[in-house]
Formats: sequence, C-alpha cells, structure tokens
Amino acid sequence: MGLGFTMCVRSCFQSSCLQWAWRTAFLKHIQRRHQGSHRWTHLGGSTYRAVIFDMGGVLIPSPGRVAAEWEVQNRIPSGTILKALMEGGENGPWMRFMRAEITAEGFLREFGRLCSEMSKTSVPVDSFFSLLTSERVAKQFPVMTEAITQIRAKGLQTAVLSNNFYLPNQKSFLPLDRKQFDVVVESCVEGICKPDPRIYKLCLERLGLQPSESIFLDDLGPNVKAAASLGIHTIKVNDPETAVKELEALLGFTLRLGVPNTQPVRKTMEIPKDSLKKYLKDLLGIQTTGPLELLQFDHGQSNPTYYISLANRDLVLRKKPPGTLLPSAHAIEREFRIMKALANAGVPVPNVLDLCEDSSVVGTPFYVMEYCPGLIYKDPSLPGLEPSHRRAIYTAMNTVLCKIHSVDPQAVGLEDYGKQGAYIPRQVRTWVKQYRASETSTIPAMERLIEWLPLHLPHQQRTTLVHGDFRLDNLVFHPEKPEVLAVLDWELSTLGDPLIDVAYSCLAHYLPSSFPVLRGQASSAHAEQTGKLTEFVSNLAWDFAVKEGFRVFKEMPFKNPLTRSCHTWARSQSQWYPIGTRSYSSVPEASPAHASRGGLVISPESLSPPVRELYHRLKRFMEQHVYPAEPELQSHQASAARWSPSPLIEDLKEKAKAEGLWNLFLPLEADPEKKYGAGLTNVEYAHLCELMGTSLYAPEICNCSAPDTGNMELLVRYGTEAQKARWLMPLLEGKARSCFAMTEPQVASSDATNIEASIREEDSFYVINGHKWWITGILDPRCQLCVFMGKTDPHAPRHRQQSVLLVPMDTPGIKIIRPLTVYGLEDAPGGHGEVRFEHVHVPKENMVLGPGRGFEIAQGRLGPGRIHHCMRLIGFSERALALMKARIQPPTAEGREQERGLRRPCFHWSCRVKSRVAFGKPLVEQGTVLADIAQSRVEIEQARLLVLRAAHVMDLAGNKAAALDIAMIKMVAPSMASRVIDRAIQAFGAAGLSSDYPLAQFFTWARALRFADGPDEVHRATVAKLELKHRI
Ligand SMILES: Cc1cc2nc3c(=O)[nH]c(=O)nc-3n(C[C@H](O)[C@H](O)[C@H](O)COP(=O)(O)OP(=O)(O)OC[C@H]3O[C@@H](n4cnc5c(N)ncnc54)[C@H](O)[C@@H]3O)c2cc1C
Repeated sequence: MGLGFTMCVRSCFQSSCLQWAWRTAFLKHIQRRHQGSHRWTHLGGSTYRAVIFDMGGVLIPSPGRVAAEWEVQNRIPSGTILKALMEGGENGPWMRFMRAEITAEGFLREFGRLCSEMSKTSVPVDSFFSLLTSERVAKQFPVMTEAITQIRAKGLQTAVLSNNFYLPNQKSFLPLDRKQFDVVVESCVEGICKPDPRIYKLCLERLGLQPSESIFLDDLGPNVKAAASLGIHTIKVNDPETAVKELEALLGFTLRLGVPNTQPVRKTMEIPKDSLKKYLKDLLGIQTTGPLELLQFDHGQSNPTYYISLANRDLVLRKKPPGTLLPSAHAIEREFRIMKALANAGVPVPNVLDLCEDSSVVGTPFYVMEYCPGLIYKDPSLPGLEPSHRRAIYTAMNTVLCKIHSVDPQAVGLEDYGKQGAYIPRQVRTWVKQYRASETSTIPAMERLIEWLPLHLPHQQRTTLVHGDFRLDNLVFHPEKPEVLAVLDWELSTLGDPLIDVAYSCLAHYLPSSFPVLRGQASSAHAEQTGKLTEFVSNLAWDFAVKEGFRVFKEMPFKNPLTRSCHTWARSQSQWYPIGTRSYSSVPEASPAHASRGGLVISPESLSPPVRELYHRLKRFMEQHVYPAEPELQSHQASAARWSPSPLIEDLKEKAKAEGLWNLFLPLEADPEKKYGAGLTNVEYAHLCELMGTSLYAPEICNCSAPDTGNMELLVRYGTEAQKARWLMPLLEGKARSCFAMTEPQVASSDATNIEASIREEDSFYVINGHKWWITGILDPRCQLCVFMGKTDPHAPRHRQQSVLLVPMDTPGIKIIRPLTVYGLEDAPGGHGEVRFEHVHVPKENMVLGPGRGFEIAQGRLGPGRIHHCMRLIGFSERALALMKARIQPPTAEGREQERGLRRPCFHWSCRVKSRVAFGKPLVEQGTVLADIAQSRVEIEQARLLVLRAAHVMDLAGNKAAALDIAMIKMVAPSMASRVIDRAIQAFGAAGLSSDYPLAQFFTWARALRFADGPDEVHRATVAKLELKHRI
C-alpha cells in the first residue's frame, strides 16, 4: 500500500472544523465595513478561466467527519472505518468501489467484513453508508454555493472533479446541483480515480483549457499534489471558509456578497437621494460631503426597505409603497410605534430613529432605523449547520417569541394596538373575505377548508402582542452565538392570540422543501404562474388539519379508547361519524383533542383530491393491468414453475412502481415524513387496500402484501438505522421478500406466550433452535429475511420472555421441511412452510428493540396486519358480489357480443361471467337469490364501516388504543366474507368451485383468515374482556 494512499485516507478523516465556521467570515465582513472599506473591489486581471472543485470535504462535508461522529454514536472503536478504507491501498475495496469495479452491495459486504475483523465487533457499515449518502448530511456548504455563483457571474467556468461511487439504485453519488458546473467528472463513471493524472487531464480537456488556466481545490494532499505536478494552481482545503478566502486572493475578486440580502435599487423603486441626504443630515446632526450609498433589501416586498450608508452610519429606511393604498395596509406608522415601545420592554428590535410622515422627502411616509448587522437564515432547514446548532437557533427563536408574548401591552402603552378577543375567528373571516375578493375560479379544496375551519377553531386563550409574521427569516441573529439580535417586519403585528405566532412559526416544518413561499426571499410568483399555489396551500392546510391534527391528538393522554363523543369542539354536528350513530359522550366537550378531529371518509369519492386521484389511478391500473393478467398468473401458480416468481408479476411490479402505486400501506403516523411510504392515513389506505383486495395478485404487485407489510412496518417502527438499511430498503424496493415465524406445531400458538423456540446468547451471537410451521412466504426464493419470535428468558415474567430476531434466510441451520396446503392450495411461490431452526447463529445486532420485547413487537406488528387483511376481505366480498350479480342477470348486448367473439373481451373485474337462466327465468328472478344479494350487500356495508372505524381510531389514537376495534373487525370480516363468497359460489353452481373464477380461492383465504393472525375465538375473548372492563 503506497504512502500516498495512506495519507490520502488519513487526511480524509481529519474532522473539518465546521463548528460555527461561518462566523469568522462574517466578523471579518463586519470589521471591514467598520473600517470604512464597504465594498469588496474587483481587482480584475485574473488569468484564470476555471475553478475545479473536489466534492467530499470541499463542497459537502468530508466522509471523515461523518465517520468519526457515526463511530461515536454507534460505539464502534474510533478509527475503524479509516483503517478498513486504507486496507488494500489502490486495490482495496474502497478504491475499487470508486472506480466502479465493484457494486455498492459488494463493497459493503467486503468493507463490513474488514471493519468487523479489525474491530472484533460487528460493524453495521450499511448504516454508515446510508448516513454518508443521506440528504441530511450530503448538502453543499452555502459558502461554496455563494462562491460558485460569483465565479460564474465573472464569466469563469466551474467544474467538479470527484472520486465518487454508484449508489445501489445505479445512480452515481453526486448530491450537487449539476447546473452549477460546466463540467462534471466522476471517478465511478470514468473508471479512474484521483490522483491518477489521467482524470485531471480529462477534466481540463472537457473545459478546453490549459492546466495553468485553472485552479483546483481538494482536501486531500495527494490529490492536490498530483494536480500541481500537471501545472494546475491548487488550494488544499482544510475548511471551506478559509479555502474561499484563498480562492478570492488568487482570483482577485470577491466571492462574497456585500451587504447581505441587498441588491442595487430597482428602477421603479428609486428614491430621491438629495432630499433624503438633507433629511438625514438634519436628523443625525452631521456635516458630510461624502456620498449617500443606497441599496435595496430583497426582503420587505410589501413595504420597500433600503440600506443607507452615510458618513460611516449604517441605516435602514422603510417606506410605504407608492400609489393608492388600502386604508389599513402598509401601516409603517404602526411598525414604528411597536418597535419603539418594545425596545424598552427587552424585546430585541432595531433601534428606530424617526418616523417621517412628510411625503415630500421620498414620496411617501417612511421611518428610519439603525442597520442591525447579523445573520439572517433564509432557509428554515438551516443547511450546513450541525443538528445541535440548528436546535440552538430554533431555541433562540422560541425564546424571543416568549419574550414578545410576555410583554404587558398596557405597560408599554400598546393596550389600544388592536381589538381585544375573538382574534382567530376574525383572522379567518378576513382571509375568507380577501380570498373571495380575489377569487377567479372555484377551488374545491379551498371551499372545503373555508367550511371546515370555522367549525374547528379553538377558543382564544390569552390576548398578547402578536408579531403576525413570525418566521426565521424575519430574525437577525448574532454572528457568534445563537441569539436573536433583532426581530424585523412588524407590519402584521397586533393584539391577538399568541398561538397564532406559534402555529405560523412551525409552518416551515410542515412545508415541503420545494415550497416557494416562506423560503426567505423566494416569492410566490413562480407558483402563481402555474396557477397552483392557492390550491396547493389549501390542500396543505387540509392535510395538516386532518393528518397532523391526528398526530397532535394522539400525543394527548387518551383516557379511554372506548368512550368517544360525537360532538366537535366547536359544538357543531360531528363529522366524525355518519349521522345517526350512537354517542358515547364522556370526553369533556372543551377537550382540545376534539379540535383536531377530521371526518370519517366512508367513500372513495370523499377522499382528499390527491388521494382520490391515487384511488382512481389504482382503479385504472387494476382494470388495465391486473384483472387481465389474472388467468396467466393463475396458470403460473398451477404450473411446474410455480415455486419461482412469475416474471409477469415482476413486470407488473415495475409498472405499479412507475405509476406511484407502491408501498401505499405504511401509515402516515408511523412514517410522518413520508420517508418510506406514500403517507396515507389508515382510513385512506383502507379504501385503496379494499380495491387491491379485489384481486389476489394486486397486493404483491403494489408491494402491499402480507407478511412483508407487517415486517416493513416493524422495521420502520422499531428497527435501528443499520437494520433498516440492511432489510427495510430491499423490501421497500420490492427486491426482497420476508416471512414472520411465530407459530409452532407443538403448542397452541394462538396464545403467543406458549411458543417454545429458544434464543440463547453465545459470544457475539444469538443461537436459535425451534420448530415452526405455517410460515407464509418462507418458500419464496426471494425471501431474504425471517422475522423470528422465540424465548430469550423462559424465567422472565410471561410477557417478557419472548424476543424478535432478524434472521437472514441464508444462515446455516434453517431447514424447510415441507410446504403446507390450505384446502389443497399451495399458494406458491411463497407458500406456507414447516421449518426447523437448528443452531442458527444470528449476530447480536439483529435483535429488534432488545431481549424480552418480542410480545410488544408482535402486538404492534399484528395490529395493522389484521386490519389490512380485513380491508382486503371487503375487496374479496365486493368482487364476489359483483361476479354473482353478473352471473344471475340476463346477458347485456355487449356481453352477448363478447361471447360470440364480436367484441373484444372486457376485463372488468366481473366480466368473463356467463349469465344463466334456470327453470324458465333468469336467476335474478328467483327470490332466494335476491335475498342472498340483499343480505350480502348489507353485510359488506356493515363490515366496511367497522373496518373504516377501526382505521380511523388507529389514525386518531394509535394502534394500541384501537385494540378493541381491530379485534372486532378481525372477528367480523373473515366470517362475513366467507358467507358472501359462499353465496356467490352457490349462484355459480359447480363452476363456483372451479379455478375459472377467483371465488374458490377467495373462499379459501377467507376461511384461513379465521385462524391466521389469531383465531376468531381469541378476538372474541378480547372484545368481551374489554367490553366487561369498560362498558358497564
Ligand atoms: C393460511 C395461514 C397462514 C399463516 N401464516 C402464518 C405466518 O406467516 N406466521 C405464523 O407464525 N403463523 C401463521 N399462521 C398460523 C396462525 O397464526 C395460527 O394458526 C393461529 O395463530 C392459531 O394458532 P394454532 O394454529 O396453533 O391454533 P391453536 O392455538 O392450537 O388453537 C386452536 C383452536 O383453539 C381454539 N382457541 C384458541 N384460543 C382460544 C380461546 N382463547 N378461546 C376459545 N377457543 C380458543 C380456537 O378454536 C382455535 O382455532 C398461518 C395460518 C394460516 C391458516
């Protein structure tokens, strides 16, 4: 291994001193300003024509810093990653990975083994890799973004020359906006790595430049040396701030903006400088012949705001806009008044100097305050800052908000600053009025919100001063510490409910990162051009109300899951249950919990527009792709190839993924940031899951099938980052499948505390021994993970004996004995296996949550799984009833044409059914058949309402609180489906038992589901127990 490589890796792991690094540059900037050197000057004459950047450690954080922190957090011996990376030198796994000679999977395997050997402990390298490549970590330093902008503005080219690699999704790892660069050269694409001179030459060739015409920045000595030996000017980067300064010195022009957030005054916004200068000289009592420098802030769109520099005084002028104004708008007088008052009450505000109501000076009234230097964070996600710094910034923000809300309006002479009381209803009325005044077309989402909001308003708790536009980019921060120096933009301040500032300041947390408004200077113009902004905002508000509100509700102490009120907090008729439902009111009406309730959506047409669209997309997909594929899929299951996955299923999976019909099952409550799933509530998913349930194959096609869904949810809820990287990701991508092993032949497994399989500790492993059966999916060749339940401590309290382990299916000692059949059906390729686990060694880090937590995990896993089964059973039943109706009615003209081959066959879910006549009339005219239809319809509707109700309680109060509802529906749905399907089979005659129709398979499944996930009796016992406990 060459010394160069060793140094290269070692320096790669020097932790770059980012901590508060930004402050240095800022302080320098302030110093210069106060030394009278206001502007950077463009020295010109630069001979350089391009700047070439390395990526990690220059544009984004170095892998070294990420590794060092990760090792601490994961209790991995410090320096393990470094050592493993160095191993093998140029031919080690790391360098081969960067030259794309091995895949990410191959690299992680080799690398993981190396790390584990070196540290004598198992090292979850997948988790390090996920962190290194996560959006959270791999973000470009703002100082570099600014520098690149300036370089390009001067007409120079920019390039990135990076040693990088391919991610598992086959995309190269380049978390940068490519538009910033004229040339991008990646080692994994070229198959050559720095410091190999060929890759530098390639980059210069693409830039069309000589070496001496460019500057190269890299954090690794050997890479810099190699560039220098070719004649390229180089900068060795230790921290980005210092590097930018060195670059400025070489280029001869500034890479920083002047006064932050300013620009030259726009043509239409110019103000007369002479009269302003005279006014200021009088105000400040100064004699100066020097120039008055004027810039415009890009903040303060509604009241134009200017930066003024005059005789070493830095000032800010804020004025009304020109033209005719609404009487209460642009009240800069109020801003001046409140800032003056608050300065004496300890609230940080700029020092206001004078209010000038004489329009002859600059054309409109204005006020003047001192310029408050500091940092303004425009992006609420605070890119480039450490999590602890971000937290400190937001804590400072909250502290200052508390200060504002603690001011006694009377004590500071502001008791008449606004109306007292009913602030929130007034606000809503104003918004509605303003919206109506500018409405151009009806937006249904907005109408729904306008109707919903007044019914769900909280009562005003307190009246305080409110800022009215309290957000991060209206605060000036101290450059050295997390402290707010000034709160700006008081235009909307008044007396009102302090909650409004709290809610508004949290808004950025809920907005998608691409949302244009509230991102500092970003204006709504772009979004409005597309005509989507209003609709987007109202949908967002609606989503917030019905989804985030549920989360808030869930966090609240849920006193009694069985008692709930049908009243809303605002005492209107409840939307929670359909009219006519019983009320078990015991929750006090004023409980804030009621504020966040949304309506129970009982039909797909009442879903929110995006989910409704998703529903219809799924419906189209079912009709176009799934139902037509059923005959082929069924014959595959009956063929000799049945134990291999059907290629058609794999094809359809890709199609479903492409249409966004993928991983719909993961409830928003478990995945609030929609990191893994589609972000649907359980109720929303219920409608889609029912639709998927109309075909036996659709759940797998949409990656929504058991037992993977339960296992994925288990990993999302309880898995470590490493476990997620190893197991969850392939499952979410549909590349792997999994099984859940709990049931055992020798014990009554409906009582999970009976299970006997043992999990024993042995060095750094757990060793499992046990005999399991009915393990769905274990025979599938794609099955890579077995979620195993066994006993770690048979002497612990009954519910603390079991543990859950993640067992890789390729671990030696797993012996599949036979596939079991359900009424003769094998359910290939996954099947239901009987299997022995003999001395199976599993690494200790594969334990979920910890020893003794198995029972708790199984309960959490089975709850959602049970309701998904029930949702699908409603789908089975609907399709059975549709088939039955098609069978008993006289054929339609279209049907007759199809039968005679005159029309293309229809692939609707109830098509391909031949209708029948018996004893002289169509079956539909037989009374008993009619009774069966009516009975089936009623039973389906009853069961569906119960399913939706269970889903709704899960959304509102969580899986645990919904235990009763889940048990009720698990008790009801399989039997109901069995009856409905049985009636349909009867109407079909013997054909109903054949595999010409899906009825026989539906029936088998419905019957099996009276055992799977717990037999009926167990659920009945749960319902009875809870009923006796709570409903006396
Ligand atoms: C198609 C299918 C797929 C399955 N997939 C899986 C899987 O992937 N993983 C897995 O671990 N298991 C799986 N199972 C097994 C299933 O979970 C068990 O069959 C179920 O939990 C019942 O356990 P048991 O068969 O041991 O029945 P037992 O516990 O022996 O119960 C037998 C009967 O006793 C009666 N009984 C039990 N408890 C009570 C009570 N409290 N009150 C009154 N009567 C009672 C009931 O009638 C019950 O049916 C599957 C089963 C089927 C049919």
